[in-house]
Amino acid sequence: MRKTKFLFNRVLVLILPLFLFLSCGGAQSSVSSDLFDTQALIVFIILLMCVLVILSFLLIKSYFGKKKIEEAAKKRTSELDKTKSDLDTALANSNAANAARSAFLANMSNELRTPMNSIIGFAELALDVKIPPKTRDYIDKILLNTEWLFQIINDIFDISKIESGKMELDKIPFSLQELLESCRAFVIPKAVEKGIMLHFYAEPSAGKMPLGDPARLRQVLVNLLSNAVKFTNTGMVKLSVSIISKTEKTLSMHFEVKDSGIGITSEQIGKIFEPFAQVDSGITRQFGGTGLGLAITRNIVEMMNGKLLVESVHGVGSKFSFDLLFETIEITEEEKTEKKPVLAEIDKPSFEAEILLCEDNAMNQLVLCEHLARVGIKTVVAENGRVGVDIISERLRKGQKQFDLVFMDMHMPVMDGLEAAAEIIKLNVGVPVIALTANIMSDDMEIYKDSGMNDCLGKPFSSQELWHCLLKYLTPLENSNDMAKS
Ligand code: ADP
Repeated sequence: MRKTKFLFNRVLVLILPLFLFLSCGGAQSSVSSDLFDTQALIVFIILLMCVLVILSFLLIKSYFGKKKIEEAAKKRTSELDKTKSDLDTALANSNAANAARSAFLANMSNELRTPMNSIIGFAELALDVKIPPKTRDYIDKILLNTEWLFQIINDIFDISKIESGKMELDKIPFSLQELLESCRAFVIPKAVEKGIMLHFYAEPSAGKMPLGDPARLRQVLVNLLSNAVKFTNTGMVKLSVSIISKTEKTLSMHFEVKDSGIGITSEQIGKIFEPFAQVDSGITRQFGGTGLGLAITRNIVEMMNGKLLVESVHGVGSKFSFDLLFETIEITEEEKTEKKPVLAEIDKPSFEAEILLCEDNAMNQLVLCEHLARVGIKTVVAENGRVGVDIISERLRKGQKQFDLVFMDMHMPVMDGLEAAAEIIKLNVGVPVIALTANIMSDDMEIYKDSGMNDCLGKPFSSQELWHCLLKYLTPLENSNDMAKS
């Protein structure tokens, strides 16, 4: 619009003198008196001057207008640049704050595992001797609460991994049947205690084995099932897995967890997937929980390219569901019958062995030495990796008998576990090295494996887990009750 007006002005200014000149020229030829010629010339000059003045005015106006526009544009551009740089700074600050928060949460949950290892260890040691029933009951309750605390720590750790984009999924073949069995085993005790019927149904996948992350899928299902059992007082909880479609190489499945519990109102439903969200504080007091479970569950399902949906009627029940598409591999006849080794409950074994424990935390040294002593194992303690390497080198130099096993904590002063393990492996003394660590995520495990260590025992560990680990590398005494060497 502005441009058209400007062009119109220009055209007018150019046409006007031309028109005047022509009309004056016309007048000149038709009336040939001198007086008229002089008057016409004066009028023409005046008009020409007027036109020139108008033209100059318009030019000046247009020049200053343009300058003003340019200045305004410049100002706006610099304002936009400033806003952009402010936004960039704000984004960088928020990313840095997020990264710091995630690192803090991950660090904190790691730090918490170390004292928890001592609490569980000492509580189990206390239960291992003859004590009055009331004391045993107290210690059982300590262990139960520790498990709950452990779950909270794991949730915090997971949410920090998700928020910092560090959670990664495995892609390995797994048996859906076994996965569901282990979910059922997890929720059965609580369901039985509350008198709730538990139904599990899974459509057989006929010779196909899905590729995915069984541990994370189990976490999703266990969380939905635990919530269903937690928020249901009478009736049933049902898990069903059905096949939506399958091709030569893929399997699309529908997962559904349904309950006849307290339900969720339509206003509350929007909030439940937010981290730390619980629909009402009364419910929280009654049922417990951190409000992190569904946020983690939804994120994991989305990482698996699914969408977690919820339908609920207040007072009637809830249904959580999602669809997942898996790549598949054929199951061989062997695999069909092969049973994965499970950590069966075992009786306390006994050994005649000597272990080197590299661990800086005094409480953990004490608890592990005591646990090992109770199964007949002598322990030599090294307070850091350097001391551990020196002890082994010394024995090697003197031609003394080497240790049967090394337990290696990962975070130690002077020399950490990874470095110490690498040095011990270099010495080629043939002693298995087991990492003792609170970092038990799959990427951390990869690092331990790549470093040449034989295995990893995640903190906190129970005496059962410790015994299972020992049985993998040490031969138990004949009369020991071991039957679970795997
Ligand atoms: P929490 O640890 O509190 O269970 P979640 O994130 O798993 O945390 O769940 C968030 C909230 O959603 C719960 O506190 C509860 O109010 C509601 N909720 C989740 N599952 C159910 C369910 N099956 N029935 C009723 N309410 C549920």
